[in-house]
Amino acid sequence: MKRYKTVTVPKTKQERFAGLRCDMCKVTCEGEDWSSERFKEEEVKIYYRSSETYPEGGEAKMHSVHLCPKCFMNKLVPWLENQGAVVAFEEWDW
Ligand SMILES: [Zn+2]
Repeated sequence: MKRYKTVTVPKTKQERFAGLRCDMCKVTCEGEDWSSERFKEEEVKIYYRSSETYPEGGEAKMHSVHLCPKCFMNKLVPWLENQGAVVAFEEWDW
């Protein structure tokens, strides 16, 4: 027969990822999908990551910003193009 005893389990609070907030206009979304339409996904990822790897371990550093699709397309892309950057565009079907 298994015996059981009553123990007190302290309440805990955890931070869980809930969504993103645009760092420019402050609009929010659930998860990492900015779209609210059923069959549409919109994802924006902007980061710079560098790392060093040695035989005994390594380290990485990352700079990132979260922008909504409107700020990406209407603010960041025009700014980049004004700086001389060519913003790549790709399109595909499946
Ligand atoms: Zn925004």
